[in-house]
Amino acid sequence: MKRTKITHLLNSKEFGKSFNVKGWVRTKRGNKNVSFIALNDGSTINNIQIVAEASSFSEENLKDVTTGACISVTGKLVESPAQGQPVELQAIEIEVLGTADPQTFQLQKKGHTLEFLREIAHLRPRTNTFGAVLRIRHHMAFAVNKFFNDKGFVYLHTPIITGSDAEGAGAMFRVTTLDAANPPKNPDGSVNYKEDFFGKETNLTVSGQLEGELGAMALGEIYTFGPTFRAENSNTARHLAEFWMIEPEMAFYDIHDNMDLAEEFLKYLVQYALDNCSDDLEFLNKMYDKELIDRLKSVVNTPFERVSYTTAVEILQKSGQKFEYKVDWGTDLQSEHERYLVEKHFKKPVILTDYPEKIKAFYMKQNEDGKTVRAMDVLFPGIGEIIGGSQREENYEKLLRRVKEVGIHEQDIWWYLETRKFGTAPHSGFGLGFERLMLFVTGMGNIRDVIPFPRTPQSAEF
Ligand code: ATP
Ligand code: MG
Ligand code: MG
Ligand code: MG
Repeated sequence: MKRTKITHLLNSKEFGKSFNVKGWVRTKRGNKNVSFIALNDGSTINNIQIVAEASSFSEENLKDVTTGACISVTGKLVESPAQGQPVELQAIEIEVLGTADPQTFQLQKKGHTLEFLREIAHLRPRTNTFGAVLRIRHHMAFAVNKFFNDKGFVYLHTPIITGSDAEGAGAMFRVTTLDAANPPKNPDGSVNYKEDFFGKETNLTVSGQLEGELGAMALGEIYTFGPTFRAENSNTARHLAEFWMIEPEMAFYDIHDNMDLAEEFLKYLVQYALDNCSDDLEFLNKMYDKELIDRLKSVVNTPFERVSYTTAVEILQKSGQKFEYKVDWGTDLQSEHERYLVEKHFKKPVILTDYPEKIKAFYMKQNEDGKTVRAMDVLFPGIGEIIGGSQREENYEKLLRRVKEVGIHEQDIWWYLETRKFGTAPHSGFGLGFERLMLFVTGMGNIRDVIPFPRTPQSAEF
């Protein structure tokens, strides 16, 4: 008999008919007359209750049906007399597909901590929590593509292996085809990358933006959505070494159009989760964070505050708060400052604009004041920065001045500079960290718990 997914069966009204389900046993309980097995197959957070009468299934028959085991059940669908579940399956045949060896993995009565589950990332998708998170993650990825597709943006696949370093920062993973044990050396003892297969230094992408700009200046509106790598040696709850980023880039958008799009996009994604992930959100709301759903609804209904970096610094200086890091005009804001602005001062999401030129990347459009650039960071409650973006400098001379100032070799990004000499266009874009979005939508506190296989300085399992 063909398998039916539990999510479909729970909504079925075909009582009296036989169905087959396959999944993993959550619990088994009962008495000498009957056993009740809660079965989950990952298609929904909800389990189906399997009823196995002692007249048909002896204790011996069911001895391998333990928590964690994988079973196949054929049975008759009946209306459930129990509260809180619409249907149950009266077992006719139960086959154990995979036993769950208690020596391999010991279940805790009260459930495992998130910290422990990180150590067994190969099994944690089996838990209710990670089932919920991973289904929500799927829906969010789908919603990202739907949002941009509906608006006519082109999904542009920017390279993973690249010679460019969009941020001008040093946090890159070098890619090499060299024999790591015996790399060819220069006379001074350094590694000779020129003998590498690629013939030049290459790294894993830290952002698809520069290549994204090329797409925008041809197709109008594009977005990228792919894995992004930063050799962050920080162990915060919001940084990963491998994460996913969504980067729209739009010709003819100024910074205000850019902010409008970012706000509309975030609200769309949160509303999409409310509309399509209600069972999983209710579970997380109940288990971890009683204000989760209220917070999601409030973000959808509140206009974001838009305020300049300069004003934000004044607010922080006058706040009387004891911050770990002091705030002066010209320093980058830390998560503690961002969260103060969002959670304590404005009590809503904030878009900060017009940052000092010297703390932002070289490609941002310079303001007339000669000190600030048209940057925008979107700050969210519980998170801090969720989006970083800007209007881009489209003027060749101005861009070249910044390239030289920050010490980038002109010849390393000649192709990028050339776009400013060949039909340059005003344009803007931003980057949304997909896992930062996931932190907000699921209410989880640690970024390692919203990606299936987290890569941080400690983890090297996968
Ligand atoms: P932060 O200040 O938090 O380190 P950033 O300013 O270095 O972030 P950007 O270069 O602006 O980050 O990248 C755009 C977005 O990508 C950020 O707003 C954030 O959502 C996300 N992001 C950046 N670094 C990471 C990381 N290491 N792990 C997960 N997400 C990240
Ligand atoms: Mg950073
Ligand atoms: Mg930042
Ligand atoms: Mg940023």
